[in-house]
Amino acid sequence: MRLLEGQTALVTGASSGIGAEVARAMATAGANVGVNYPFDKPQADRVVSDITNAGGKAIALQADVSREDQVTAMFEKLIATYGTIDILVSNAGIQKDSAFADMTLQQWNAVIGVNLTGGFLCAREAVKEFLRRGVVPERSKAAGKIIFTSSVHEVIPWAGHANYASSKGGMMMLMKTIAQELAPKKIRVNSIGPGAIKTPINESVWSNPEGVASMCKLIPYARIGETTDVALVAVWLASDQADYITGTTIFVDGGMLLYPGFRTGG
Ligand code: NAD
Repeated sequence: MRLLEGQTALVTGASSGIGAEVARAMATAGANVGVNYPFDKPQADRVVSDITNAGGKAIALQADVSREDQVTAMFEKLIATYGTIDILVSNAGIQKDSAFADMTLQQWNAVIGVNLTGGFLCAREAVKEFLRRGVVPERSKAAGKIIFTSSVHEVIPWAGHANYASSKGGMMMLMKTIAQELAPKKIRVNSIGPGAIKTPINESVWSNPEGVASMCKLIPYARIGETTDVALVAVWLASDQADYITGTTIFVDGGMLLYPGFRTGG
């Protein structure tokens, strides 16, 4: 079933990990896809080739999502290529971990800049186009869909990661606030909150058996997630099958939020 036939999606941070898989899955579901990358062009080109070799449509779009001028130019190029945008997956994210007392302003600003300000800038440009164009019933019941890649750390505090957890907590209120503001305009805004998914961001954990065993203590479903676990949810959430869903986070976490420490009585 091609749930996103004829729609255009932009996926930020699509040159690796979750974003790359979401880009491929959205193309398989029939969408034209903008594959955003910040610096790593060969990786983005590989994702574009995966899509075009499978018969889909995609272009690579360079932009550092924390830079307003680059975000604006990226949207202009996407819209010049495919005519409009129907779906934004604001996925680009980084970590710069540090004990709180040692955290530099540079580490703080870098993470907030990409994860939160980047989400704001991309969502704002997408919303401008959704409002200009309105609903096109042949394509979708909604005028536009935004999906943020958040994290279980929009809820779970994370020692040593104050910048990252704050960026995802902020993202939750950004998502809910604009969902509330834009629902009357038929724009749906949601987040996906991954738990631990095997990607380059956490390779140091899943690439050795001790790391996997220790991580699985936090995951009742007892496996580390795959990027496809997230990508399939993203396609469905962007589709009209999820038309009545706005303003919420769908956690894709194998039960990480179930307080597994209490499974044996706490
Ligand atoms: P990843 O490192 O593979 O992907 C991050 C992507 O963001 C990369 O493609 C990178 O090039 C891009 N990026 C970095 N800075 C950018 C910038 N300034 N502008 C544009 N793109 C930029 O890691 P991932 O795990 O696939 O992460 C994707 C998202 O998922 C992130 O927002 C991350 O916080 C979130 N997440 C991941 C996990 C996990 O376990 N992997 C869990 C929860 C949330």
